[in-house]
Amino acid sequence: MEKIRHYIGGELVDPVSGRWLDNIDPATAEVYSEVPDGDERDAARAVLAAERAFPDWSARSAEERSRHLLRIADLLEANLDRLARAECVDNGKPLHLARSLDIPRAVANFRFFATAILHFHSESHATDQLAINYTLRRPRGVAGCISPWNLPLYLLTWKVAPAIATGNTAVAKPSEITPMTAYLLSELCREAGLPPGVLNVVHGLGGKVGAALVSHPKVAAVSFTGGTATGAEIARSAAPLFKKLSLELGGKNPNVVFADADQGEVIRTSLRSSFQNQGQICLSGSRIFVERPAYEAFVERFVTETRKLRVGDPLEPGTDQGALVSRAQYDKVLSYIDLARKEGGRILCGGGRPSSLPDRCRNGYFLEPTVITGLDVASRVNQEEVFGPVVTVTPFEGEDEVVAWANGTEYGLSASLWTENLPRAHRVAERIHSGTVWINCWMLRDLRVPVGGMKASCVGREGGEEALRFFTEPKNGCIRVPG
Ligand code: NAD
Repeated sequence: MEKIRHYIGGELVDPVSGRWLDNIDPATAEVYSEVPDGDERDAARAVLAAERAFPDWSARSAEERSRHLLRIADLLEANLDRLARAECVDNGKPLHLARSLDIPRAVANFRFFATAILHFHSESHATDQLAINYTLRRPRGVAGCISPWNLPLYLLTWKVAPAIATGNTAVAKPSEITPMTAYLLSELCREAGLPPGVLNVVHGLGGKVGAALVSHPKVAAVSFTGGTATGAEIARSAAPLFKKLSLELGGKNPNVVFADADQGEVIRTSLRSSFQNQGQICLSGSRIFVERPAYEAFVERFVTETRKLRVGDPLEPGTDQGALVSRAQYDKVLSYIDLARKEGGRILCGGGRPSSLPDRCRNGYFLEPTVITGLDVASRVNQEEVFGPVVTVTPFEGEDEVVAWANGTEYGLSASLWTENLPRAHRVAERIHSGTVWINCWMLRDLRVPVGGMKASCVGREGGEEALRFFTEPKNGCIRVPG
């Protein structure tokens, strides 16, 4: 059975403990590889390697660092098929999605930050005739990058690329549930000739190796994406050590449909925003609000189209929806469907396992896409992050009502807004408390824009200059102008 290894100081190494965890293919529920059960000793080795590599790497020119990142991007691209298949098997997502979204985005992350550092500029402030101030931005040192399982390589590289592009060295910790593509990235970094220790990857449980990384005194900045409860734990551990923290957390995003919107486009995009990646996207629009005059027709069409989605073997080209990532996630999502029934919801479609699955997948973690109506906006299913192929649909009467409902959760990550009325689009977008508002679209990404959320969804921002700033320390120089 294939054994995944840590990537430390340029080498692929076994965990100090000599222990491994099972890595399960969610489409078959079978163990197909093993992942190191890393602990604080592995974290310490990786941080030491990163620390040693820092003086040389941070002293290299931006152009040289850029060339290294571009080489990694080229190798990722050349290995697109292998990586996409690995992501599909590890995560349960459809192969075509990994091919068209996850891996191309990992390539783009490296290219984007490889070239962004060539154009990064800083500020200068003239203080009347007295002085000129200039701001230098220096790498922070060793960055800890911790990522979740839903978009494994996509989100890991979204952190690692800006961290090392700006001259830091990094220790990355992928999710123990989906470690494979981070391991393949380690191999490709070796092939690309990335200097040893610039990027290190440690594997294992969040509470062990992840927590050790966060609390390590030599890790100057921690960039984390994952659940809100984990984010709170990380903040508790990192704050007394005065580390720079970026936390990208959960969401319960509203998808607001006004009656004047192009309903064909609304249905097409809402199917994606509800169910793409089995609904396991932090930006999924899991609460759909439809203006009363359009509600009945929306529900009928949406349910008809949802029933057409093919749930099945993620390796098959015709599959729209693959397996949920793990048994625990499958059980959690099912428990929310149960709760919805208890809370008085009507399950219009889905609600359980698909009736026909190929033999290979009979034990896999498959759930039908599920549409629920009749739930109070304050119900738990409408308040808590389900993170699965489950959406609720609720009618609304007017702007004030829907804005209050959209804002009525502890989260504030993203929102979608559908209307042909431009003044209303501006008005409602302004009033919604979320880091991103998509107007007549969803997940239309530009890597330059700030990404993140409000309230319990985020601390800080990623993307473009925000990431370059996060991973660098500003230092002001002040030169007195001789009078
Ligand atoms: P998680 O919080 O369980 O785990 C995320 C990562 O943190 C994993 O690598 C895990 O091993 C590690 N970890 C766990 N406990 C830790 C600890 N005490 N110290 C250090 N590291 C620890 O999240 P998940 O279940 O992997 O991912 C799903 C969650 O991620 C959802 O809530 C989703 O909304 C969120 N998410 C947010 C964004 C965003 O951009 N805001 C993007 C994707 C996913």
